[in-house]
Amino acid sequence: MAKQEEQQENVLFRNIISHAKEYGFVYQSSEIYDGLQAVYDYGPYGAELKKNLKDLWWQSMTRLNQEVVGLDSAIFMHPHTWKASGHIDSFNDPMIDNKDSKKRYRADVLVEDKAAEYEKNGEAEKGKALVEELARLLEAEDLEGVRELIVRENIVCPVSGTAEWTEVRQFNLMFSTKVGSVAEDADTIYLRPETAQGIFVNFLNVQKTARMKVPFGIAQIGKAFRNEIVARQFIFRMREFEQMEMQYFVRPGEEMKWYEHWRDARLRWHKALGIPEEKLRLHDHEKLAHYANAALDIEFEFPFGFKEVEGIHSRTDFDLGNHQEVSRKKIQYFDPEINKNYTPYVVETSIGADRTFLMLLCNAYTEEEVGEGDKKKMRTYLKFHPALAPVKAAILPLTKKDGLPDKAREIFDKLKYDFNIIYEEQQSIGKRYTRQDLIGTPFCIAVDYDTLEDDTVTIRHRDTTEQERVHINELHNRLAEATSIRNILESL
Ligand code: ATP
Repeated sequence: MAKQEEQQENVLFRNIISHAKEYGFVYQSSEIYDGLQAVYDYGPYGAELKKNLKDLWWQSMTRLNQEVVGLDSAIFMHPHTWKASGHIDSFNDPMIDNKDSKKRYRADVLVEDKAAEYEKNGEAEKGKALVEELARLLEAEDLEGVRELIVRENIVCPVSGTAEWTEVRQFNLMFSTKVGSVAEDADTIYLRPETAQGIFVNFLNVQKTARMKVPFGIAQIGKAFRNEIVARQFIFRMREFEQMEMQYFVRPGEEMKWYEHWRDARLRWHKALGIPEEKLRLHDHEKLAHYANAALDIEFEFPFGFKEVEGIHSRTDFDLGNHQEVSRKKIQYFDPEINKNYTPYVVETSIGADRTFLMLLCNAYTEEEVGEGDKKKMRTYLKFHPALAPVKAAILPLTKKDGLPDKAREIFDKLKYDFNIIYEEQQSIGKRYTRQDLIGTPFCIAVDYDTLEDDTVTIRHRDTTEQERVHINELHNRLAEATSIRNILESL
């Protein structure tokens, strides 16, 4: 990307961030105390959008797949969980400090950014070779080698502009705390860094009590916590975030078939949300995590480049096998079809709710020039899929008098049980339309003097600003048809 284009992209991202705050989607946590880094709160419209997104994921997992069931496990888990999962020993990021600015960076990210720079400047091969070299060094745990790579590539700190680097050190990403009322009895426990382990330790419970037969999946949505070294890009990388994970248990040897199945199913899901095909890509992992025999990311083109939104991992029997070993409890499945006991293999789909939220926001944010000549102006609106939009419709009486508010309230009261709608009577109708565009409401329903005569209203469509006249009795059906998540589920 040329420098100028890149700067414009950054302006776009800054606009999206301010929009998110100004229109009640996302706020910095504890803002009145100057904020807490990499922690965010969701405002009224953000909370609705996130809830719609989570509901959609949940339903596409559990309703469209009879063999996928849900779970809601606790954030706190027995400390041995994290020994078995490998998180205590190897959930580390290599970090490096700049001696002049005292800023801390992820060493691998510095190198990856450099590789991306090569790619942008038409030196893709050089970038690829650099990524491969980094992968080799990390695999060999050669941290000094990573440092040498940073120095060799002339990577400087963006703040101080110098290459005065410390050595590279491993930094564990788990947050710990103590349980127990008295200090002496206290035991260290961790805030889970992923929801997956709650699923693994419940494998037998779920399999037996819900009488599941391999292949089957367990889906869960919940908070996860990581002490990320570099917190940047808004809600892309947070210290407290939400994951939507599904672990699919399969017969050993069949994992690649299911890996491909879920890769395709998940890609279709992203497209069904309204994300254009050219903004999505698959990225195979160069360096496999300690538990995986195949892994890829689904990436979205954010204003700051293509980045991971979801990971699809073939985790082998690593997790169940290790929990069996550490807990000394047999975790096996008897497969009646082949008359054999085995530890199932796992294919997982792991997606961040917040990151997907950011993807939806970036994709929906639209600035368009409208009008002619002197009347030319910019129109900003959020073109969310109607099934995901935080507010489905706004009921707007043309004026505050002559019985129009009463009529509008009557309509509001009929629809409010089934749809998240807003009633608004302040300001001119034009301003109220604009306000709804800014929060992505797909339909505005205007109540005017004709409504009092013939029970018809005007529906204004967000994306086209076209208006049509419909009878009040049709409103419920029209909204139900346009905003149902069935529209998305049926296209999967
Ligand atoms: P990254 O390489 O970006 O750190 P990861 O590969 O560590 O991500 P996974 O462990 O595969 O991520 O987690 C699955 C998903 O959880 C990611 O695709 C992402 O959507 C989400 N996720 C992970 N870490 C964060 C975070 N710090 N903030 C927000 N979402 C996150």
